[in-house]
Amino acid sequence: MPPITNHLPTADLQALDAAHHMHPFTTNDDLGKKGARIITRAKGIYLTDSEGNEILDAMAGLWCVNLGYGREEMGKVAARQMNELPYYNTFFQTTHVPAIALAKELADLAPGDLNHVFFAGSGSEANDTNLRMVRTYWAQKGKPEKSHIISRKNAYHGSSVGSASLGGMTPMHEQGGLPIPGIHHIGQPDWYAEGGDQSPEEFGLARARELEEKILELGADKVAAFIGEPVQGAGGVVIPPSTYWPEIQRICEKHDILLIADEVICGFGRTGNWFGSQTMGITPHIMTIAKGLSSGYAPIGGSIVCDEVAEVINACEFNHGYTYSGHPVCAAVALENLRIMQEENIIDHVRDVAAPALKEALEKLGEHPLVGGVNVSGLMASLPLTPHKESRAKFATDGGVAGYTCREHCFANNLVMRHVGDRMIISPPLIITPEEIKIFAERATKALDATYADLK
Ligand code: PLP
Repeated sequence: MPPITNHLPTADLQALDAAHHMHPFTTNDDLGKKGARIITRAKGIYLTDSEGNEILDAMAGLWCVNLGYGREEMGKVAARQMNELPYYNTFFQTTHVPAIALAKELADLAPGDLNHVFFAGSGSEANDTNLRMVRTYWAQKGKPEKSHIISRKNAYHGSSVGSASLGGMTPMHEQGGLPIPGIHHIGQPDWYAEGGDQSPEEFGLARARELEEKILELGADKVAAFIGEPVQGAGGVVIPPSTYWPEIQRICEKHDILLIADEVICGFGRTGNWFGSQTMGITPHIMTIAKGLSSGYAPIGGSIVCDEVAEVINACEFNHGYTYSGHPVCAAVALENLRIMQEENIIDHVRDVAAPALKEALEKLGEHPLVGGVNVSGLMASLPLTPHKESRAKFATDGGVAGYTCREHCFANNLVMRHVGDRMIISPPLIITPEEIKIFAERATKALDATYADLK
């Protein structure tokens, strides 16, 4: 057997992959029939596969490569840190400079009094931290029964037992006996799919008020926290009506309930501000971060925690943590990512240049007979496909058949757009230029035309 490198033929690599590699969120048996696409290199917004195709990555990996691929500074910082201090933990009263510096930087970037950071290796781990932290907070305050957490249907908060329970994805709950007790799910603010005849504003208020109904049903003295993504990502880029988040914040304050904003996708520029909470005008007690924190160059996540919660948690021994909490190499890479984002004014680029160009391109794509609407906030967007534009009807075959077909046509046109059901998702690297957005739109149009032709 020759060494397994990029030089092996694609078919050989695919066969080895199918034989030994179990992929996440995949029917792995299918990989034996049609091998996985093998990505070998990437630069800017383009991936190269083992057949030499240059593919425009309109998903930034999994919504995470905010800076784009191939930034050599990141590799240099990682190598330097590997050589100086590749690992040490942050348990039991030890620390190191990358963790100190990153915590301070995040406290400076985060709004309000979100001044404290608990590190994790991923978004899932960070949400597990949040689950235990909010329950511990209320227990320390003498209210251990204030432990229930309210989330939303179709939310995504991660794949661990705790975070998938916080999430509201039915197919995930069906595997492994989830959700764990004490977690409740109310309706999502998805006006496009569920708003019916209501105006977006009415619908936003109605969905927010489901939170109050659930609190009253459980008793406010039993509810620890509400968690939500400022814009639901994996649920299909659900942009709440403008009335939704202010009402949620008001209800949380009224009933003394902690507000957790899951910023794993929205954080670090995706919606045109550092955090999605700023775009939505809310002040959470805790923000979950990951993905764009390091632009996906190193696995790192965390919880940014407000003064009040940190004060209570810091007064006890919080029996929680991960071997890789604040990992020095990941922290150094994240710091470099944040340094570059600031030096290159990436947030301004999103807000002033890329987001307006993407919106214009998407509005044009929205005229396509197959596209029922445009959901867009900054550089995260979805195009719902529909057989009937006026009614926003769903396709008769549920399960995203049209979306799946469209995704395949995207690949055939060297474009990555993911599908969630029949919604095509767009979340490109934040560095994307208006010229690159034009190329994206050309390829997306071809994929939509081909899908339309197939469905006729
Ligand atoms: N929270 C949100 C909003 C996410 O989108 C994700 C991942 O997509 C997670 C949490 C989980 O993050 P990770 O995959 O790093 O565990």
